[in-house]
Amino acid sequence: MGRNLDSKCSQCRRVGEKLFLKGERCNTPKCAMVKRNYPPGFHGPTRGRRKISDYGTQLMEKQKAKKYYNMMEKQFRLTFEKASNKSGDAGKNFLRLLEMRLDNVVFRLGMASSRNQARQLVNHGHFALNGTKTDIPSCIVKPGQEISVRASSKKNPYFKQVAENLKKAELPAWLNLQKSEMSAKVLHEPADTDLPSHLNVQMIIEYYSK
Ligand code: SF4
Repeated sequence: MGRNLDSKCSQCRRVGEKLFLKGERCNTPKCAMVKRNYPPGFHGPTRGRRKISDYGTQLMEKQKAKKYYNMMEKQFRLTFEKASNKSGDAGKNFLRLLEMRLDNVVFRLGMASSRNQARQLVNHGHFALNGTKTDIPSCIVKPGQEISVRASSKKNPYFKQVAENLKKAELPAWLNLQKSEMSAKVLHEPADTDLPSHLNVQMIIEYYSK
């Protein structure tokens, strides 16, 4: 399945939840989920949210998580299969792998205002892992690794502004940010409490188990 061509706000309105796809605008009253919290389309305001089947609910949860992490179906499913092949709780393993993608880590560090922007920054070669340039957003970081903004990129006006914003950044406990260095160490894998609680991963397991 290709990339979703809906506008970003329509994707939130379709699943009925804020997916935070538009950076800073998402935290303002301009957010479409604040102004128009009904499905997109001509009948949206009057139709409201329909009762949907179990399959529809599972599909919706899968779509929601996929959009939240800004991924396409193929890679999302491959990540699910990888998580299922690991020992332990498949759902938590899945969320852990999604959280440990390099683009998500850049977003969690507060160096991008959305996962989409984080992916572009990684693609453009602004980051290094343990000192080696890494431009693969799907790369899974490991405990002990250091993620840093490359020296040449620190001079870029965008990262100068990021350095200012980092002063007030709130971070998950599994990442240790050195604000002055614009680098962070992965202390350990995300704990259960670091995983997003609004995603119903059991539904996603059921969806992919059919
Ligand atoms: Fe979703 Fe952000 Fe648009 Fe709000 S502003 S509807 S959270 S993409």
